[in-house]
Amino acid sequence: MTVRPAPEAATGAPVIAPGATLGVLGSGQLGRMFAIAARQMGYRVHTLSPERESPTGQVADLEVTAPYDDPDALRAFAAGVSVVTFEFENVPVQTARTLEELVPVRPGGAALHAAQHRGREKTLFAGLTFPTVPFVRATSRDELRAGLVQIGLPAVVKTAAFGYDGKGQHRVTRAGDLDGVWAAVDGREVVIEKLVDLQAEISVIAARGVAGDIVEYVPFENRHSRHILDVTTAPAAIPAALAAQAREIARSLLEHLLYVGVICVEFFVTTDGALLVNEIAPRPHNSGHLTIDAAVTSQFEQQVRAICGLPLGAPDLLRPGAAMANLLGDLWQDGEPDWAGACRNPRVKLHLYGKTVPRTGRKMGHLTATADTVTEAQELVVAARDALLA
Ligand code: ADP
Ligand code: MG
Repeated sequence: MTVRPAPEAATGAPVIAPGATLGVLGSGQLGRMFAIAARQMGYRVHTLSPERESPTGQVADLEVTAPYDDPDALRAFAAGVSVVTFEFENVPVQTARTLEELVPVRPGGAALHAAQHRGREKTLFAGLTFPTVPFVRATSRDELRAGLVQIGLPAVVKTAAFGYDGKGQHRVTRAGDLDGVWAAVDGREVVIEKLVDLQAEISVIAARGVAGDIVEYVPFENRHSRHILDVTTAPAAIPAALAAQAREIARSLLEHLLYVGVICVEFFVTTDGALLVNEIAPRPHNSGHLTIDAAVTSQFEQQVRAICGLPLGAPDLLRPGAAMANLLGDLWQDGEPDWAGACRNPRVKLHLYGKTVPRTGRKMGHLTATADTVTEAQELVVAARDALLA
C-alpha cells in the first residue's frame, strides 16, 4: 500500500474541523454513504438536489430541494456550509462556478468539466500520454462516417455527455449502421472508439488531499451485467506490473489536475494484456463500496478527509479478499426480497440506500464480504444475493 505522508510545506489552507457543515451536490446513495462517514467523524451534512426524501436527504442534517441552476438556492446553500463536494457529476459546470465564488468546491469545476464529457476526458488522457483505446471525436454525420473509417469496425459510438451504465452507446459492426446510429445520437457530439476484446475491467480509486498527499487503493476488478456493475472483487487478479501502472496513472492524473477529493479511474485490460484508461468519475464510485467493510479507510471517509484538509487514511484491505455484489431493483420483481436470507451468513454485510421505488436496473443496495481469498469473498456475496430470492 502506498501512503505518501503529507508534505510539510502544505498549502496553509486551514483544516475544516469536525463540527463544521459539509455540503454535497446530489442526493443519491453516494451522498448517503458520504454523509454517514461525515457524521461518524462529527461533521454535519447538507445536501442539495431537485429530489425530496432522497437517499442522502434521509441521513443529512438538511435536505435542500432545488434545481442545480437556481442561483439563489445555491447562494443560500453555500452560506450554510464550509466546503462543497459532489456525489453526482452531471451538475452544470456553472453551478460549481457560482459556488466557487463563495466557498471551497472540492474537487473543483475544472475536474468536473473534464469528467462530464467523454471527448474532453479522452483528450486529457491522450495529452498525458496515457494508453487509451483508439478514438476520434465527431460532431457531424460526415465526421462520424470519417471517424468510423479511421477507427475501423467493429466500433463503439458513445455520446460525449450524460452517459452512464452503457446509456448512449451504440456498437457499429457494419458500415450500413451509420444512419441508424446518427439518428440515435440525435446530432449530439460523440466519441468513436475501437471495440477491443476485454480480459478484465479494473478501477483504481484514489484520493488527493489539500496538501497534495495521495493515497490509492489496490485495483479492484469489475464485472458488469447488461452494462451495469454487477460484482466487484479486490484485489483484481492482474499481473503486479499492470496494477502498478494503473495506480501510477491514477496518481499522475490527480497531480496533473491538482485535484482535491476522491477519483475513480476505470481501465480496460485487453486480451493481449494491455492496460487502457477508459474513463474517470470525479467522486467515490460503485466499485469502491467494498472499502466500507473491507478497508481501513472507506472511500467515503477518504472524501471527507480530503475535502476537509485532514490527512488521508490508510487504504489497506483488512483481509486478503473482498467482494461486493450490487442489488438492483430487478430483485423486487416478485415482491420483497428475503433480507434474513441474505444476512444468514454472518460474514456478509447488507447495505440498502433507502430508495422506495425498485425500478429495473436501479441500484438499491449492495452486499459485501471479506475472506481469506478473493474467490471465497465472491462466492459469499453471490450466494447471499441468490438467497434473497430463495
Ligand atoms: P459508462 O460506464 O459511462 O456507461 P463505459 O465507457 O465505461 O461507459 O462503457 C460501459 C461498458 O461498455 C464498459 O464497462 C465495457 O464493458 C464496455 N465498453 C465500452 N467501451 C468499450 C470498448 N471500446 N471496447 C470494448 N468494450 C467497451
Ligand atoms: Mg464505465
